[in-house]
Amino acid sequence: MTDTTAVDTTAMDTSAVNATAVEADLIVVGGGPAGCAAAVMAAGLGMRSVLVDPGEALCRTLERIPVLGNVLGFSTGPALAAAITADVARSDLCRVELGRRAVRIGAYEDRVEVVTVPMEASGSGLLLTAPYAVVATGVGPLRPEDVGWIDGGEGLALPPLWEADPAALTGRTALVLGADRPLGTLLRAHPGLDSRFIVACPPGDAYKAEEIAEDPRVELVPVRHLTLAPRLPGEPPVPKAPPVPEAPLTAEAPPTAEMPLTAEVLTVDGGRRTLTGHRGFRNLGSGPTPPGGDLSADASGYCPPSRQHPRVFTAGDLRSARFQRIATAMGSGSEAALSAYYASRDLPTEATDDVSPRA
Ligand SMILES: Cc1cc2nc3c(=O)[nH]c(=O)nc-3n(C[C@H](O)[C@H](O)[C@H](O)COP(=O)(O)OP(=O)(O)OC[C@H]3O[C@@H](n4cnc5c(N)ncnc54)[C@H](O)[C@@H]3O)c2cc1C
Repeated sequence: MTDTTAVDTTAMDTSAVNATAVEADLIVVGGGPAGCAAAVMAAGLGMRSVLVDPGEALCRTLERIPVLGNVLGFSTGPALAAAITADVARSDLCRVELGRRAVRIGAYEDRVEVVTVPMEASGSGLLLTAPYAVVATGVGPLRPEDVGWIDGGEGLALPPLWEADPAALTGRTALVLGADRPLGTLLRAHPGLDSRFIVACPPGDAYKAEEIAEDPRVELVPVRHLTLAPRLPGEPPVPKAPPVPEAPLTAEAPPTAEMPLTAEVLTVDGGRRTLTGHRGFRNLGSGPTPPGGDLSADASGYCPPSRQHPRVFTAGDLRSARFQRIATAMGSGSEAALSAYYASRDLPTEATDDVSPRA
């Protein structure tokens, strides 16, 4: 891998970026399981890669997963993140650039260029150039204003559910907007948590709600529409959560400040209800977060590999609203690096007519 200052930047406007140029065989954008798997696979194939991520560490998404039940060999996200980080560090051919965000991808006939900017004002940008790029920037949490079934609540900064402090929820009712996976993760990780979860979710979330529907702490409220309203001072207090069968996490609820939330809902069977919680959380799922430039998105904003420039391979959660799992992210990242390797040697990855089937 070489640092140079003489790179052809005519095709892309990089004037706003004070960038050092870095060349490699493969650029990897995003340091989650998909991007790390791509970098490690590339190293195994003798390809020099440069991996860029805005975080201070790799695989930060995995740090939010206290219990893992579907990844071979690992039972927690942090343990997997540590193992992946160690594997990437061992890959001499992979240069990791943390604290930098890719802002633009340019795909040309002979190369890919990626403009990165530093997360800190004192840092410097990099202009990455390589024959191929793997883009695996994952997804970001949706906010109430991003979904059509929620109105109101302007100015309400609802935290995502994965940020919830279980100890602060003890003996409390949480009003949760949406039935996305983090709720199942929270309930599995804290089977003794003495809390009540009122979960308002649209019909489209029904398949996600299956894994939590039987939990006695959960009340699922299928809704057509929900209007958010902050609770006003002087309103009657939220009733204490009814007891649940399992032992509480802590003996007493800690004296933390409450941020009550009230919502008026139209249920799927046409009824009207007022839902109230001591705390409100958003758990609305996620949307793709591609960098700008030459990535092609489908109608939902995801970037399937089949739609991309021949020199750009997308991997992980960025590909589709489906298959958003760690194992599939790692598999697709590995496959993306292999695809770049075969492309660099003009080797087809699909069977051609002149290959006879085995007898
Ligand atoms: C709370 C929670 C619980 C989950 N539980 C499970 C589970 O139990 N089992 C399971 O299989 N899956 C689970 N998942 C899903 C799993 O975490 C994802 O499928 C997986 O992390 C996807 O990997 P990825 O590399 O595609 O994306 P990510 O892990 O999201 O990584 C993307 C990376 O790209 C970086 N990035 C973003 N934008 C840019 C940019 N412009 N430039 C450079 N880098 C960028 C991000 O900083 C991030 O590090 C869970 C997810 C959450 C949030």
